[in-house]
Amino acid sequence: MKINYDQVNGKNLKIFEKVYDYIIIGSGPAGVSFYKNIISKKKKSKILIIEDGDYHKKKYKKVFSKHLKIKLKSRAFTVGGSSTIWSNISSYFEEFEMKSRWNNEKKNLWPLKYKSLIAEYKKVDKKFNFFFDELKKKKFKIPFEVRQFIGSIYPLNFRKFIDYKEIDLIYNCKICSIDENSKLTRAYTDRDKQYFSAKKMIVCCGGIESINLIKNSINQKKIKNIQNKNIVGKFFMDHPKFNLGYLQYPRVDLIKKFELTKKKNNIQYYGISLRKNFQKKFNLLNSYVRFEKSSGKIVKLLSKINVPILKNIIKNKISYKVRVFCEMKPNINNLVTLKKKKTYVKLRLSKNDKRTINFLSSEIKKYFSHNPKFEKNLKINIARNKIEDASHHMGGLRYSNNNKLSNVDRNLKIRGLKNIYVCSSAVFPTSGSVNPTMTICALSSRLANFLSK
Ligand SMILES: Cc1cc2nc3c(=O)[nH]c(=O)nc-3n(C[C@H](O)[C@H](O)[C@H](O)COP(=O)(O)OP(=O)(O)OC[C@H]3O[C@@H](n4cnc5c(N)ncnc54)[C@H](O)[C@@H]3O)c2cc1C
Repeated sequence: MKINYDQVNGKNLKIFEKVYDYIIIGSGPAGVSFYKNIISKKKKSKILIIEDGDYHKKKYKKVFSKHLKIKLKSRAFTVGGSSTIWSNISSYFEEFEMKSRWNNEKKNLWPLKYKSLIAEYKKVDKKFNFFFDELKKKKFKIPFEVRQFIGSIYPLNFRKFIDYKEIDLIYNCKICSIDENSKLTRAYTDRDKQYFSAKKMIVCCGGIESINLIKNSINQKKIKNIQNKNIVGKFFMDHPKFNLGYLQYPRVDLIKKFELTKKKNNIQYYGISLRKNFQKKFNLLNSYVRFEKSSGKIVKLLSKINVPILKNIIKNKISYKVRVFCEMKPNINNLVTLKKKKTYVKLRLSKNDKRTINFLSSEIKKYFSHNPKFEKNLKINIARNKIEDASHHMGGLRYSNNNKLSNVDRNLKIRGLKNIYVCSSAVFPTSGSVNPTMTICALSSRLANFLSK
């Protein structure tokens, strides 16, 4: 059943009396994949999805940000969430990205083993096709780490997986706070004393909004038993991205193997990052670059003609745009706060983040150019680059075995609460450098597996 909250009045108030097995707040990839996973295991589950947005118009909400700016269109409030506007590019976390690689530590910061994450990737790939099976760990003989990325030209909108015979979905309904007593969980709307009840609740509101909902509930003196309130919103991360510039003397035959290409309905490329042992030695991260061919119209036209002399001329005219995508070191000073219903984000690159970019940039120039000394179009000094938000909002509700430095335990349950769980990139303890959605869905599959037992 599909219900518009704007039209809920005296006649259809019965929905408030119903006790669901699960309330899912948010209908983006996290919410939809959790519901699909749980219903495939427990067919008779009574599920309610609550969604702030509607079907026709996408809402965008401003975030006030200091240092790195969060774009207005970095999250969509609508049925299907940000999958209605995303690019659908995927790749996998590397095992070392789950670890702390700073101060010579080597601890896994994620409360799950790499093997389990890979097993979940395989499961969600079958259901939602994140291209995991196609992502190949090819060995290239170059002094860099190389990882493949695949996306589709027509991105997948998670709205299409919703079957209204299986669940109830109420839209135009913002949840302002949540709570639980010994038996039930409750999701409160902005209307006086109206709430929905369920045995268990899953917060799937996206990276920033999941934090806001928890913070709002604490401010309203609900979820009183939540542990480590002081770190809610802290350790926030993103994958800042920017154009490093153009390689004017590229080693075309080499770069060709890694550049962004379009094939049938897919795009694919390889991300190039610093060697693992190099990262370890200098306390650097796994930020990567992508090469995008950039040539004028005439060169593009001539490249279609198969004449050897022409080919040589064209080769000298091709340049490559170099784009950087950063991993961020988790930092307690990067945070999301809520003041008078406004969201504020403070997000700044750490020294390690900046050093990584500088190292990576100069290594790329040295290896991928014929003429490194004459590459004037690469802005190695990051102060001169316009760094953007990648719309990948992570951290703020840390997921860890460390019961002092986290809000969410290894089963994604909020610490101190009995029946409220979070499934969102807000739980990521490290950001890694790949697009987050396949990992979010892997967590939802793991959660469904846990709850169905
Ligand atoms: C332009 C763009 C490009 C992107 N490209 C990629 C990409 O190539 N690959 C990739 O992996 N990721 C990409 N992303 C990120 C990707 O969209 C997110 O990782 C993914 O959508 C997160 O899923 P989610 O369900 O956790 O959150 P969302 O998709 O944000 O869904 C959350 C839902 O919760 C609802 N909600 C929030 N608060 C409340 C509340 N209080 N009450 C009720 N409902 C609420 C929202 O309306 C929304 O529908 C991109 C994002 C953008 C914006």
